[in-house]
Amino acid sequence: MSDDANLELAPDVMRALLDATSARVLDHLAHVGAQASPGEVEPDAARVFCKAMRERAPEHGTDLAPLLDRYFEEWLPRTLVTNGPGYMAYVPGGGIFPAALADLLSNTTNRFTGAWFASPALVQLEANVLEWFREWMTFPEGAGGVFTTGGSTATFNAIACARERLLGPNIRGGVVYTSTQAHHSVRKSARLAGIAADRVRLLPVDEDFRLRVDALATAIAADRAAGLVPFLVVSSAGTTNTGAVDPLSAIADVCAREGLWHHVDGAYGAFFHICPELRPLLDGLSRADSLTLDPHKGLFLPYGTGALLVRDARDLRRLHGASADYMPDAAPIEIYDPSAHGPDLSRGFPGLRVWLTVKLFGAARLRAAIAEKRALAVEACERISRIPGIVIVAAPQLSLFAFRVRDDDEATRRLLRDVNARGRVLLSGCTIDGRDVARVCVLSFRTRRAQIDELVEDVSQSASVASAFSSAQQRKPVE
Ligand SMILES: *Cc1c(COP(=O)(O)O)cnc(C)c1O
Repeated sequence: MSDDANLELAPDVMRALLDATSARVLDHLAHVGAQASPGEVEPDAARVFCKAMRERAPEHGTDLAPLLDRYFEEWLPRTLVTNGPGYMAYVPGGGIFPAALADLLSNTTNRFTGAWFASPALVQLEANVLEWFREWMTFPEGAGGVFTTGGSTATFNAIACARERLLGPNIRGGVVYTSTQAHHSVRKSARLAGIAADRVRLLPVDEDFRLRVDALATAIAADRAAGLVPFLVVSSAGTTNTGAVDPLSAIADVCAREGLWHHVDGAYGAFFHICPELRPLLDGLSRADSLTLDPHKGLFLPYGTGALLVRDARDLRRLHGASADYMPDAAPIEIYDPSAHGPDLSRGFPGLRVWLTVKLFGAARLRAAIAEKRALAVEACERISRIPGIVIVAAPQLSLFAFRVRDDDEATRRLLRDVNARGRVLLSGCTIDGRDVARVCVLSFRTRRAQIDELVEDVSQSASVASAFSSAQQRKPVE
């Protein structure tokens, strides 16, 4: 008689499932450099395709093999190829292999890591990683941290900490300052934390796209004069548009003088601080009251791995500490208890991903990879700047730079389309003050010298196409 209610699989069945999955994964990774970078994501076709994918929950189970076939052959090709070596669009993510092993370990052993009492040794591994982050960011002892699902939720958590400490229940008067170049997650996080859009000031930037400290001081004074309560500055350690690093030290001075919380959004740039020789580029970062980290960008981890550091761990505990009569007492203060430092109780085990990755590679290799990405970006920008018709809009402060074709928005958009259509590298654009720019962000661990050569070649060829096009346009007689 069949025993439908038994969901335990036999060992040989599990082994076969694992083998089938790893064979497909290894094959995928063996060809990761060969995929066309843009992927097939044309929206109209995608809508039709997705509509046809809708399905009812199956009443009876099926084999794994055809599902894997469809995953790899039908669905994966319909994505931006974010794990390919040519991916330089937006801010690239990682997907480094040891993290997948960590997920297999944590998902099969499925221990509860929300509270220390249930898995003290496992929670300690996560505490170790947070301690590594603290040292790499040169935050003081007594700092605390928490893993999050990404940079957005880290910033949300930080804004809530600042609000709780500096505003208490009187939220409505509180004002947040950031720059026009800040990531949109800052405004979103502020709203989630109860700070409405009319209390978020988007301040102007200088010619290097860095927040203007004089404008900050003026805005704080104006808001105080109007009876409002300035309480938080969110600066960027690497903006998404141009990679600009705000003057973190000068902003820290203003915050110290005015009694404001200084949060630094390091989702893109903070991990460059792990390389001692690059720390001057992020001068002042370690003076922040809190810092958003995104291991799934700058530490090459897979998506879903974010983190927050807070200068004084008590601020996290003040926000998240809670008790219940069905829970044991909270861990003693010197012990790290995840649910006392973040919003989640039951949760995955993100720390294991980072821990296993750092243990298997060692910090030195990770530093070498991070330093290489910056060196490659500097070299790429230097070579691209010599292409006729190209104007550098922002040179790399870290590993991101922006350029355009002369003063010609149409030619810049055309160049982007043309480079991407060649299928070797993928770039994205943005608009700054209403003007189109193309941008290159080198942050995938798979991007090496060979891709930089392809990038320069493809931009060079596309630039001559774009130039020919725009001069033909200019010569076109007026009818
Ligand atoms: C990616 C990014 C974010 C958002 O982080 P997520 O992990 O995508 O939530 C915020 N700020 C900057 C500068 C980023 O690059």
